[in-house]
Amino acid sequence: MTSLRLPLKDIFIAQPFGVNYFNFYQKMGLPYHPGVDFRARNGCKLYASNRGKVVRCGAYSDGGLGIEIQHPEGWSTFYYHLKKISVKVGDIVIAGDLIGYCDNTGKYTTGDHLHFELRVNGEKINPAGYFNKTYLGDEINPKDWKKSRCYHRYYRGRPKGGYINELKILAILGKKKIYPTAEKINALVYGGWDIEAVKNDNMYWIWSQLKKDEYLEKKEIPFN
Ligand SMILES: [Zn+2]
Repeated sequence: MTSLRLPLKDIFIAQPFGVNYFNFYQKMGLPYHPGVDFRARNGCKLYASNRGKVVRCGAYSDGGLGIEIQHPEGWSTFYYHLKKISVKVGDIVIAGDLIGYCDNTGKYTTGDHLHFELRVNGEKINPAGYFNKTYLGDEINPKDWKKSRCYHRYYRGRPKGGYINELKILAILGKKKIYPTAEKINALVYGGWDIEAVKNDNMYWIWSQLKKDEYLEKKEIPFN
């Protein structure tokens, strides 16, 4: 097995493999985030990422409703925080089979998403390089891989007056010779963030996930 099918139709990475924001995972006894979080609309369909056998499904202590599929050559994939499971232990699936529906079940999650893990002989590895891009086809736009996080989390199209605000902010920044990316503009204009926060790399995972008022209200890490 050398490739994985993307498990959702609408692909956007909310948190990559290997990060350890605010030492969140160290506090849980993990070296870092051991999988990839895909944004997943509540109730959206979840697909098997390769052929294999369902070896476990049901409630996990932290992962909520989850599925484990064993593939050839020591590979296995895990899917957590689900709403509903459409397979049972012992089922044989192929890539693209509907196996469940996404949600936000389990501990430490702050929004609907799929936590996807790949293990090879038990070792948790970064699945990003194994996704088969030929599956992108017409169902997933490759551009979505790089789409701004805050675009997905809180950009709602340009609200009334938004474009004028955007121009005003760009004019102010232009005078200071600051030329932010589209993602940063989004945070400044629609997220209510100030330039100091957006310039601060340590704040990235906050402003890219939440509007400023959401953050002040939640005071928690905006993902798991
Ligand atoms: Zn995760």
